[in-house]
Formats: sequence, structure tokens, C-alpha cells
Amino acid sequence: MSKKSLYEMAVEQFNRAASLMDLEPDIAEVLRRPKRVLIVEFPVRMDDGHIEVFTGYRVQHNIARGPAKGGIRYHPDTNLDEVKALAFWMTWKTAVMNLPFGGGKGGVRVDPKKLSRGELERLSRRYFSEIQIIIGPHNDIPAPDVNTNADVMAWYMDTYSMNVGYTALGVVTGKPVDLGGSKGREEATGRGVKVCAGLSMDVMGIDPKKATVAVQGFGNVGQYAALLISQELGSKVVAVSDSKGGVYNPEGFDVEELIRYKLEEGTVSTYPKGEKISNEELLELDVDVLVPAALENAIHEGNAEKIKAKIVVEGANGPTTPEADEILNRRGVLVVPDILANAGGVTVSYFEWVQDLQEFFWDLDQIRTALEKMMKEAFSEVMKTKNKYSTDMRTAAYILAIDRVAYATRKRGIYP
Ligand code: GLU
Repeated sequence: MSKKSLYEMAVEQFNRAASLMDLEPDIAEVLRRPKRVLIVEFPVRMDDGHIEVFTGYRVQHNIARGPAKGGIRYHPDTNLDEVKALAFWMTWKTAVMNLPFGGGKGGVRVDPKKLSRGELERLSRRYFSEIQIIIGPHNDIPAPDVNTNADVMAWYMDTYSMNVGYTALGVVTGKPVDLGGSKGREEATGRGVKVCAGLSMDVMGIDPKKATVAVQGFGNVGQYAALLISQELGSKVVAVSDSKGGVYNPEGFDVEELIRYKLEEGTVSTYPKGEKISNEELLELDVDVLVPAALENAIHEGNAEKIKAKIVVEGANGPTTPEADEILNRRGVLVVPDILANAGGVTVSYFEWVQDLQEFFWDLDQIRTALEKMMKEAFSEVMKTKNKYSTDMRTAAYILAIDRVAYATRKRGIYP
């Protein structure tokens, strides 16, 4: 496995695109670096009365095209390097989708599964209060990510609102639908993955109705991706997994039933209607489409040769290392990169933010139609760039995104 840090790997992807497009070295240097990095250490009163100190981060990578945008994750392994990489990817993700946002990301180093609901709420509120000095509907707009959800967003929104003295719905996205949230936000990342899976099957000449799909990770992204790929594309979802392990059934799963099982049992790994497999085995299954929708570095130089899928659609952020990318590209696997494949979430976050600012809410059909249209447009722009530069999809997506952010940087000029 690679010894490089996640941020170094992300910069490597950027450098590849920058050199292919002949980006000026000084602009490249501006675009590589995060604009602001905030580290907060904050105390939380635990249920038994003792105080624990947690570490949190918020990184604003770039705001040349608009306010910073990106989720907040709670994970025991979260660290500054990871949050920097994730913020970096958000800059290119919002630019690929042509949204008027920059890129940001946050995280708290904590295992939320070990907290009571009260502890989770106090941690969330105190963390948000600590990072509030750089947050706001026009500065930086957080959203859900790994282990955070609409309930956490409601606490964030309320905390910010209490501190400023009025209700500011537009300060976070991914809120509950009846509290300034957007219809279709919860399914949005999975829906975007579905659109990319469908389009990439077209590119590779695969009939979706005959295709088999494996999904690694069964959180928000994996669940909706599996559901919509099976329901709307008619493909067979033959394997799914979560952090505890996976299940495989060559006949295909009833994904709705799987989701209900996950909700009740907390894992899909014990689902009885399939054969138990490990996460590693899932990645190496002989399927048409593989959707890594868990965490970073799932596909690395140690297993990339063994991936049998013809298409990889990155539901997670950073699931493929640069070394693995090279191997997959050489072997003719079509990799739809994270900054395109999972951009459905931030796209509906954009719709949510617009609805909040206008205090005028859209119906579900409008949102789904607008999302699918924007995903298709971005996919086709990335394919055009791919053909123009004779490169892979990831590098093409970077070129498209870097071009937009570089334009904004040059046009705005360097202050003062
Ligand atoms: N956390 C999601 C992502 O990685 C969504 C970000 C957002 O909606 O702002 O894209």
C-alpha cells in the first residue's frame, strides 16, 4: 500500500491534469493549496459527568467561484490531512458541476457509534459553534458526510441561528425536508451515481438490464445507488457490503429488503439470502460495474490487478489511489471519478441552498429532473475533454474543473 498521504495523492491527480493542460505554474500553486485551515479542540460534557476534549477541523480549500461547500464527517481516523484532501476534491467537484461554489470540508475525530444521542448533540453543537467564525450562508456551507445526517444538520443550523439571533436556513444543507431541507437531497448522491453508471454502461456497450453490480459501503450513498441502479436501470445488484463485511448472491438482491435489513440489524453482513464475503472479495468479484461507496483507498496497487469490473463508479471520495488508477486505466477499466460520480449530493445541496435563500421550495420531480440533466451534461463535458486530451476520465474531470477555477482566479486578479 502507498505510503503517501491522502492529500499528496490528491495533489498528484491534480498535477497530472495541470501538466497536460499546460497550466501556469504560479496559478497551479495557488490552486493546490488550501486557503484556510481551522483546527479546534473543544470540550464536551459526557453523560457520566466527565469532560472529554475532541479535535475538529474545517478546511476551506478554494473560494474563487463562490462560498466554500462541503460536508462534515465524524470518524475515529479523521485527521487534518484527510480533511485537506476532501476539501481539495470539493473544489473540483463543484467546478465539474459548474456550481457557484468553492470547496471545503470538515471533520471531527470521534467514533459517533460510541456516543449517546445527547453526547452526539452536545459534540455537534459545540464543534459548530467553534468553527462558526468561518461559517455562514455566504462564506462556507457544510453538509452531511460519513456518519452525519439530517438530524446533525438541524443541530448545526439551530446552533448557528441561536448564535446570530435569527434563523439562517441557508447555513447548512442536507437538513430535514420540513426544516429548510430539499426534497431529493437524501437520495441525491445515489441518484447521481446511478446516472453515471447508466451513461458509462452506454459508453462501454453494456446493456444495463443484463449487467451485474457490486456496491462496497451501504451507508447513504451505497444504499440509494444500489436501489436506483436496480429499480431504474434494471441491473442486478449481486453484492453489497458494509464495515462488518458483505453478502453475495449471483441471482441479485431485492435492494429494498436489504435496506430494511440494514436498518433493523445495523449491518448487511449477516443477511441470510446470500453467501458471506469480505470487503476485499467484493471488490474482486466478476461483475460489470463496481461502486466503491465506503472510504478512501479501497482500490490500491495491491488489488487493482484483481478488479474484474469493466466500470468503476466512485460513490466514495478518493476510493482509488493514483497507482491503482494507472493499473485500471492500462487494463481498460472505465473509472468514473468521485468528483463527477458522487457530485449529485452537492448538486442538490446547491438546489437546497438556493431554495433556502429564496424561501421558495421546489417539488421532487423538478429536483430529480434538474439533477439528472446536470449530471448528464457534466458527464458529457468530461467525456469531450477526455477525448480532446486522449486521457482518462479522472484527469479529464480535473482539466475541466481546473480550467474553470483558474479562469476565476485570473479574471478576479490577485489582491491587492
Ligand atoms: N459530503 C458530500 C460530498 O462529499 C456532499 C457535500 C455537500 O453537499 O456540500 O460531496
